[in-house]
Amino acid sequence: MQLLAGELFPAEETTEQIFRRVYAALARRPDAPDVKLLVRPYVATMGKLRLTAGGLEVRLSELMAAAPATVREALAWILISRLFRKAPPEHWVRHYRQYLNRREIRRTHLALRAARSRKRHCGPQGAVYDLDHLFEELRERYFEPLMAKPRLGWSGRLSRTLLGHYDHAHHTIVLSSWLDRPEVPQYVVEYVLYHEMLHIKHPVEHRRHRRSVHTAAFRQEERRYVQLKEAKDWLKAAR
Ligand SMILES: [Zn+2]
Repeated sequence: MQLLAGELFPAEETTEQIFRRVYAALARRPDAPDVKLLVRPYVATMGKLRLTAGGLEVRLSELMAAAPATVREALAWILISRLFRKAPPEHWVRHYRQYLNRREIRRTHLALRAARSRKRHCGPQGAVYDLDHLFEELRERYFEPLMAKPRLGWSGRLSRTLLGHYDHAHHTIVLSSWLDRPEVPQYVVEYVLYHEMLHIKHPVEHRRHRRSVHTAAFRQEERRYVQLKEAKDWLKAAR
């Protein structure tokens, strides 16, 4: 009996072929459009689709273009389902999330983000509040004295919805310049800074494919902030 090398090592489908096959399956027609693949240095998105006169344009991040075939197929099901306004098959969503949660994938993604994006923010000395000074006071009161100091800055934009942000890749805390005004009490600015400092101490937990940003331990420690209630009430009233 003869054994063909092709049976042992079936040629892997290309990304274009995968997307074409998934498109045909979801459209329930055999004549799927031509697929054009473009690899882009995306960091925040894994991929995008666009239907053009020339066919289906698939733009993938470098990370996703290099992923195993089953992961690219999972992304095909997710993106093309969205194109048809359908819910993507559950098992493909799970497969995709599991892949993204793998430690080395998260690490690569983080490194890419750090290398690619340049942070746009102003320094720690604001018009009213000095974040360096507030950080040192909070560290002394609530944290270990040796806690590594992140870079601190005020945002370029006056956002009322995004009050603060800790960027793990850059080890940077940015507070919204909306808080840097005389009518904002110091305990409110301190509270937002304290919250972001807790993100340094309590990293995001990944269990299976769930991501927990504000863990129970985080919430418990947040309650140690003396003026927590006043700060939250003030922010609620200011909205
Ligand atoms: Zn948070």
